[in-house]
Amino acid sequence: MSYKIACLPGDGIGPEVATSVKRILDAIGHQFEQQFEVSHHLIGGAAIDEFGVALPDETLSACKQADATFLAAIGGPKWDHSEIRPEQGLLKLRAELEVYANIRPLTMYPQLASASPLKSEILEGTDFIIVRELTGGIYFGAKSRHSDYATDECKYSVEEVERIARVAFELATERNNHLTSVDKANVLETSKLWREVVSRIGEQEFPQVALHHQLVDSCAMKLIQSPSEFDVILTENMFGDILSDEASVLAGSMGLLASSSVGSRYGLFEPIHGSAPDIAGQGIANPYASILSIAMMLRWLKLPKEAESIELAVSGAIDSGILTKDLNSSSDVTTQQAIEAVVSRINAS
Ligand code: NAD
Repeated sequence: MSYKIACLPGDGIGPEVATSVKRILDAIGHQFEQQFEVSHHLIGGAAIDEFGVALPDETLSACKQADATFLAAIGGPKWDHSEIRPEQGLLKLRAELEVYANIRPLTMYPQLASASPLKSEILEGTDFIIVRELTGGIYFGAKSRHSDYATDECKYSVEEVERIARVAFELATERNNHLTSVDKANVLETSKLWREVVSRIGEQEFPQVALHHQLVDSCAMKLIQSPSEFDVILTENMFGDILSDEASVLAGSMGLLASSSVGSRYGLFEPIHGSAPDIAGQGIANPYASILSIAMMLRWLKLPKEAESIELAVSGAIDSGILTKDLNSSSDVTTQQAIEAVVSRINAS
């Protein structure tokens, strides 16, 4: 079959890690007799520089016409004070594609236990997925700025909570029937609504799933104290953003965590990390989060064998010690070398 993939490299290390998309998909296409047609489009700061907007119409329509979209990362200090912000492009893209469910698996590689600052006995058995609501909440609410105060509205509708809750419950049924819903229901009205709706969906539609509610502050603590207790974590947009960066510390690096953002129609696949301006241009960014996001894309496109081949190749490269600096401070493995290590393992599979 032939698949059209829109690739949005973005800013900072984005274009460096995005070079993996064509390399990996060409290798997979060759190995599994599939065709992937990869097209590149601007978003974020790069699009602001070229067209004065963070999400050009051409990019949006290419994403809508593609079978799936890969986005690397946007943003950077160059645009921190510009009137149009790169982040607006990403938020608009997620909203336009209506990809309300952001799924972030925490894949632990036992061979990387020493890359995490946590003790290996704490990490043992850790394997969870964060399901983050992606198109609602405070990031999308009305904003106002005045000379002496500013506001950000946080709003969730019953329908928005119902649909993300169903995604998380479904995932829980495919794993261990254990779901932790994270909120701040002791303070926030949106969280009280969240808790009521999630409880109702659980009771009515997924009685086999054990549901626990947890406050976001204690969840942040438990994530590093006893991470193996979690299985599927369901939470709202901002809490999910923060908790998944925290969770990346368990895996050893931001450069390892992939994500898929899906709705009823489109799929957007991105590493969880940002544009890492501190290392941009040096060719040392870890490409594995991007490559694992491509695997998530292929699984969503119903190509499980192809997805698995990528995951095995990444694990094999890690086994062989092909680690960028974020995982081994004395390493001089480059982004391109890590990509080629995965490609050669796919070719040999
Ligand atoms: P960041 O994720 O870019 O970087 C945090 C730290 O992790 C940095 O030290 C960085 O060097 C390291 N890191 C991240 N990805 C890495 C990789 N693949 N390999 C090796 N090291 C890696 O977060 P930040 O510094 O808070 O934000 C930088 C910019 O990225 C900001 O403009 C922010 O708005 C933007 N951002 C974009 C996204 C996105 O595109 N989805 C997400 C988060 C932040």
